[in-house]
Amino acid sequence: MRLSELVETSARIAATSRRTEKSALLADLLRRLAGGEVAIAVSYLCGEPPQGKIGIAYRSLRDATGDAAAVPSLELLDVDRRLGEISAVSSRSNKLDLLRSLTAAATPTERRFLAGLLTGELRQGALEGLMAGAVARATGIPPDRIRRASMMAGTIVPVACAALERGSEGLEQFQVKLFQPVQPMLANTAEGPAEAIAELGQAALEFKLDGARIQVHKSGDAVAVYSRGQNEVTAAVPEVVEIVRAMPARELILDGEVLSLLPDGRPRPFQVTMRRFGRKLDVERVRAELPLTPFWFDLLYADGGALLDEPQAKRFAELERVSPAGLVIPHAVTSDSARAQEFLRDALERGHEGIMAKSVAASYEAGSRGQNWLKIKQARTLDLVILAAEWGSGRRKGWLSNLHLGARDPATGGFVMLGKTFKGLTDEMLAWQTEEFQKIAVAGDGYTVHLEPKIVAEIAFNEIQASPVYPGGMALRFARVKRYRGDKSAAAADTIETVRSYFAAFSTSTAKT
Ligand code: AMP
Repeated sequence: MRLSELVETSARIAATSRRTEKSALLADLLRRLAGGEVAIAVSYLCGEPPQGKIGIAYRSLRDATGDAAAVPSLELLDVDRRLGEISAVSSRSNKLDLLRSLTAAATPTERRFLAGLLTGELRQGALEGLMAGAVARATGIPPDRIRRASMMAGTIVPVACAALERGSEGLEQFQVKLFQPVQPMLANTAEGPAEAIAELGQAALEFKLDGARIQVHKSGDAVAVYSRGQNEVTAAVPEVVEIVRAMPARELILDGEVLSLLPDGRPRPFQVTMRRFGRKLDVERVRAELPLTPFWFDLLYADGGALLDEPQAKRFAELERVSPAGLVIPHAVTSDSARAQEFLRDALERGHEGIMAKSVAASYEAGSRGQNWLKIKQARTLDLVILAAEWGSGRRKGWLSNLHLGARDPATGGFVMLGKTFKGLTDEMLAWQTEEFQKIAVAGDGYTVHLEPKIVAEIAFNEIQASPVYPGGMALRFARVKRYRGDKSAAAADTIETVRSYFAAFSTSTAKT
């Protein structure tokens, strides 16, 4: 394939914002590649030349210009060979000579592409994600398998080559390997137990413990513990090593949460558990003060076999077989939302963060945050001021419905908007607010009615997330009105500082190891 063909596809991919179109363009290009070209094309498209850095500064690259070629003639294999030569020679002047001869053969568009490639400007993390989908499309292999294999390989390039050349059989070499941490599966948020059950049907419920995620690999006496970010933390958690070493299975990869418990079995706060992961610790001393207990919730590998493709129910059953019962996460399987509600209450009463609801049928989706794991945390409330309301539509036509919610900002005397909600409002509340709000309206555009900031409502929410949209940089997730606080004035509403401190404590962006 000519370099120009790849450059043109790359430009077309950049020009469309639609993912499916990007993926189709990529898949089409992949199908047209000859065997030896796949690794080169995939690397270029991801912005990483296979040679890595070729040892030429950006300025040299810009200076290496003479007349450009008028018509494209460079073949991908040729470009790769030339870049290999440039990277192999050591003298700067030789490198520049070779580079000049390459750029002389390139058209202006190709030159721009090569410059981007060689300076790292073209490096596109997003493309790596798209590439997995495109390889799946081009080969008919499920995208999850491609993603998993590229996670095991560390990059998509060898996976794309193997998949395009040998189909799904080619992927067998990229299996889970002991002592190579697997990216942890992540969870989305559900509003509450009923919503989670509605989404999943039958669900495996588990306590959600607020500690540190660990993945433990075992082969005989060798045990290694990895953090959520796949760093090795074995030395910090000797008790976990001892526990896993004593488990009868020879080979294991366990996924779980480790935390420090109080003598009565309730959890210590997250920050306290995290003291065990400090940099220069006297591990034995801190261990005596803050012993850690692991709770397993998944099993990815056992005695020679990977379990990632097995359904959760099977993985969990195997986990119960290999682990002492006291170290398996408290769990229940149900499709009854009242039972799920009770399970949540139980978790919260015992001082835990909430519950997880997991699809019993789902495989272990390493590195992905999907709908197969849903986290349900305790709802919290804030007393917020109603800044405006939007006229409703459909069943709520004629009523002021969607509320703009704001926290008090003592620094300015104003209010900082944190989101909108029309949830939780009964017909009585809708009728009341439609009448009252019109009395305190200060401006309106026929759609939104802006109000004097007077009325306070108690708002429940599940999470605060970073938001580029709202002025405080934060937005409430799953906000709903619990009740109007007729007894509170706006001057007594919660402040933006309170919201910030909640955000720091509970947001999903809280840095965890
Ligand atoms: P979050 O950090 O809020 O996105 O929640 C996901 C994290 O919850 C995981 O990475 C684990 O560290 C932790 N966690 C606690 N209990 C469980 C559980 N039963 N299943 C999965 N993750 C859990």
